[in-house]
This record gives sequence, structure tokens and C-alpha cells, in this order.
Amino acid sequence: MKIKTNNITDTEKLAKIFAKNLPETGAFVSLFGDIGAGKTAFVRIVLNNLGVKEKVTSPSFVILNEYKGAVNPSNGDNMPVYHFDLYRLENEGLETIKEELREYSKAGVLTFVEWADFGSGELPYNRLNIKVHYDEAEFNDTRYYEFIPVGAEYEDFTAQMQAAAEKEGLL
Ligand code: ADP
Ligand code: MG
Repeated sequence: MKIKTNNITDTEKLAKIFAKNLPETGAFVSLFGDIGAGKTAFVRIVLNNLGVKEKVTSPSFVILNEYKGAVNPSNGDNMPVYHFDLYRLENEGLETIKEELREYSKAGVLTFVEWADFGSGELPYNRLNIKVHYDEAEFNDTRYYEFIPVGAEYEDFTAQMQAAAEKEGLL
């Protein structure tokens, strides 16, 4: 599923749809795209919709941010949230976080990984890939969010988001 957002308001609608349809088991989401594409913006809006009150920023300098206060709307459970940015990760660093990446893909947690390209070999197989990009010829707020599910659970999740996006007029 590929969705064009014409402005941040469209991206807010899309992130709301993501939050609303989040599976009971949480999700592991890897985000791909250039600097300034809109990876962190998407994560921020999703987390705000799930009840996170802290400021959501790109964890570029710390590799990992952890947020409290998120509630999974499908069961009302408290849900730990982990937000990685692998942009500055060196090879040795990858060794040390690969165990963590596995830990953070377990059920009941929500994990976002920005610059997932740098951790490609270590990501869990079942996940939702989101590719974010903009057209360099368009000097405006147009962004493209492409959702690529891997595994049956994420195929269902994406199908539900697609139905909701159609209703919202995003598709
Ligand atoms: P990344 O994490 O991919 O490096 P950010 O999310 O930090 O990028 O930055 C994206 C920037 O683009 C933000 O300043 C955001 O307000 C802006 N922006 C403009 N239009 C959009 C849009 N349609 N969707 C998302 N962000 C947008
Ligand atoms: Mg970012």
C-alpha cells in the first residue's frame, strides 16, 4: 500500500489510522527514507495518538529512546514503546544491539527503527516496513508512505489500514 500525503495533516490522518488499527500484539516497524522524509514525524504522531506525553524526537544521538504512557487501543494494555535510530551505528554497535532488537520484537511492545537499512541483517523477519520518500522535483509538503508487510499478521494490519485509508479519502 502506497499513500500520498499532501501535507502534515494527511500524515496525521495516516498515523491516526495506524494507531487505531494496531494489533493487540503490538508491532515491529522499520522505517526507511532520507533525512527529512518524515520518519520521525510519523512516529511522533502515532505515539501522541497512543497517549505518549513526552516529546518524541529523533533518537539519532542516543540510538534508542524509550517512551512510557502508551496504551494499546485494542486491549487497553499499557504498551512499552522503543524508538531506534541506527543512523550513527557502527559495526560493533550493531553486535551489541542485535540482541536488543530481538527482545524488542516480542509480543506486546511497539518498536520503531529508523534507518533500519543499517540493521538489515538483524531485524526480525515478521515486521512492517515503511518506506518514506518525497519527490525532489516537488518543493512542497508531499510525502509518500509505502507500507510493505512481511508475515501474515502484518499483512492483516496493512489490509485494515488500507480499508481505513480508503474511508478517509487518503487512497
Ligand atoms: P526524518 O525522521 O525522516 O529524518 P522528520 O520526520 O524529522 O524526518 O522531518 C520531516 C519534516 O518534514 C518535518 O519537519 C515535517 O514537519 C515536514 N513535513 C512536511 N510535509 C510533511 C508530510 N506530508 N508528512 C510528514 N512530514 C512532513
Ligand atoms: Mg528521524
